[in-house]
Amino acid sequence: MNIYRLPVLTDNYIFVLHDPDKNIAAVVDPAESKAVLSKLEELGAPLVAIFNTHHHSDHIGGNSGLLKRFPEAIVYGGEKDRDRIPHQQVFLKAGDRVKFGDREAEVFFVPGHTYAHIAYYFEPIFKLTSESTGDQGGELFCGDTLFAGGCGRLFEGTPAEMLNSLDQLRQLPDDTRVWCAHEYTLGNLKFALTVDSDNSDLQERMVMATAMRSRGEATIPTTIGLEKRTNPFMRWDFPAIQRSAGTEIGDRVFAKIRGQKDNFSG
Ligand code: ZN
Ligand code: FE
Repeated sequence: MNIYRLPVLTDNYIFVLHDPDKNIAAVVDPAESKAVLSKLEELGAPLVAIFNTHHHSDHIGGNSGLLKRFPEAIVYGGEKDRDRIPHQQVFLKAGDRVKFGDREAEVFFVPGHTYAHIAYYFEPIFKLTSESTGDQGGELFCGDTLFAGGCGRLFEGTPAEMLNSLDQLRQLPDDTRVWCAHEYTLGNLKFALTVDSDNSDLQERMVMATAMRSRGEATIPTTIGLEKRTNPFMRWDFPAIQRSAGTEIGDRVFAKIRGQKDNFSG
C-alpha cells in the first residue's frame, strides 16, 4: 500500500492510499475533491473507499465531489457520526475491521475532539513475493485526535475521554507511522517546550522540525515512538509534565496542559 500526502486548504493533509497490485485507491479525510481527483487521475486507479475520521468539514468536504466521479466508492465513518457525515454507508465502532486491498485496519473509537471520532489502524504485514520481500509497518490515520507534538482541541469531549483515546493510541507499536490531518507541528512543539523544557528529545525535535519546515517539507508522518518521547499530551504520567501541571492525577494533568495550550499564542 502506497500512501500519498496531499496538502490542501491552509494546513490540512488528505491521504490517498493506493494498492498497486489491484490498482485501486482509497482516501482518508478528503477535505476537498479536486486534489484527490487529480491524484487518482495520475495513478489511473478508481476510488473504492472514503475513510472519514469525523464530521468536520475539513475532513468530509470532498465526499460529494468524489462520489460524483466514483459513485461506487463506499463511505466509512463512526457510528455516532451517522447523521453528520454526508453519504455515509458504513457505521463503525471500536474493534470493527475494514479492508483495503491486501491490508486490514482496526477501528479505534477515540472521542475527545468530537464525540464520534474514530481512527483507522492498518496493521503491519509481512509480504513475500517474487519481486519484493519485507515488512510493511503499521499505519495510523487519526484525524484530529493525535497531532505531531500535540492533540486536537476538545470540542465535544472531556479531558478524561481524550486521555483515554490517546492512551489507546499510545499502546500501538513504536514504529507505527502516524498520519495526522494537519501540519500543526511547529506551533505544537513551541508549546510543548513550555511544559517539558528539559526534554532533550523534544529540543532536538524542535531543531529538526524547524529545519524541515524552512525547506518546505512536511513533518507528517510522525511515529508513535517519537510522540511518546516528545508530545506532552502523550506524557501525562511523566514527572516533568506532572510538575508543570501541578498535579499527578492523569485527567487533571491533561486538562491543565490542554487548557494552557488553548490559550497559548506562541
Ligand atoms: Zn476536526
Ligand atoms: Fe481538522
